[in-house]
Amino acid sequence: MRNVIIVGSGCAGNTAAIYTARAGLNPLVVIGHEPGGQLSLTTQVENFPGFPEGINGPDLVENMRKQAENFGAEYVWGGITEADLSKAPFTLHVDGVPQQAHALILASGASARWLDLPNEQKLIGHGVSSCATCDGAFYRERKIMVIGGGDSAMEEATFLTRFGSEVTLVHRREEFRASKIMLERARANPKIKFLTNTVVEDVFDVNQNLVTGVRLRDTVSGKTWDQDVDGFFLAIGHVPNTKPFKGQIELDPDGYIISHGGARTSLKGVFHAGDVQDRVYRQAITAAGAGCMAAIEVERFLAGH
Ligand code: NAP
Repeated sequence: MRNVIIVGSGCAGNTAAIYTARAGLNPLVVIGHEPGGQLSLTTQVENFPGFPEGINGPDLVENMRKQAENFGAEYVWGGITEADLSKAPFTLHVDGVPQQAHALILASGASARWLDLPNEQKLIGHGVSSCATCDGAFYRERKIMVIGGGDSAMEEATFLTRFGSEVTLVHRREEFRASKIMLERARANPKIKFLTNTVVEDVFDVNQNLVTGVRLRDTVSGKTWDQDVDGFFLAIGHVPNTKPFKGQIELDPDGYIISHGGARTSLKGVFHAGDVQDRVYRQAITAAGAGCMAAIEVERFLAGH
């Protein structure tokens, strides 16, 4: 029986682990299917306070884990396959193995969203990717396409110009959600071509088991055309990882945890931290702050019992 199980090993989960471990609560951290969370998929992080020259994302999150382990946090590989939050102690099955705890911190983050094109899933890993940092280097001197109009799309398009012969950024609207600085950086890059008011209808070629092109549609004129592409990168946001908790705690229609103030969920003893609840700020530093809040609430909750 654990005092607390933390679900997720991103910024939020690791910070919660540092605080709860330092408080002597011996937390168990379930690493999840995306170890290190979103930071492990980024390159340079320039806006995490304390690093004037910036810091590599995977290094930052790995440092957090080491810091938590130094205080006695334990990490277990695997994801939550089943959860019973109906009574305390709570039961979580980690890859089928049951674990119990008096308190939980849900810091399971959010995963990349897909376009749901007819052939998209079949070509993942064969030219379709949601992680420029992971897969960009495979497309040296090749034609790359990035989908999205937010900061991730700008960041990924800019990063991918290191590899690709050209990068086409496709966005479904005219206006961009991205911050001014990121948009301007991408616009100033001569290798990036912008296609606005354009949507992707499908990606080819499943028969070759390789991305060779896409079908695009201009949303204003309705015109469709095919374009040659080798690497097809999605940067269209994320979906919260709350599936095992559905029907057990309050979620909004998109699946994000509804906060009941501070780090509280609708269930006593179950707390939230990071992107699994936050659809507004979604930054490494806000996730870390949320992990700290959840840990403090867990300490108080356990002290009260
Ligand atoms: P986001 O801001 O939610 O942007 C997602 C983009 O994808 C939007 O432009 C959206 O279009 C588009 N999109 C969503 N679903 C689509 C669909 N089905 N088909 C076509 N396009 C679709 O997500 P994000 O860019 O991943 O950023 C998430 C958060 O992380 C933001 O707060 C961002 O500022 C932050 N971030 C910061 C940095 C940095 O500062 N270094 C880097 C990356 C991300 P619409 O605009 O039309 O809705």
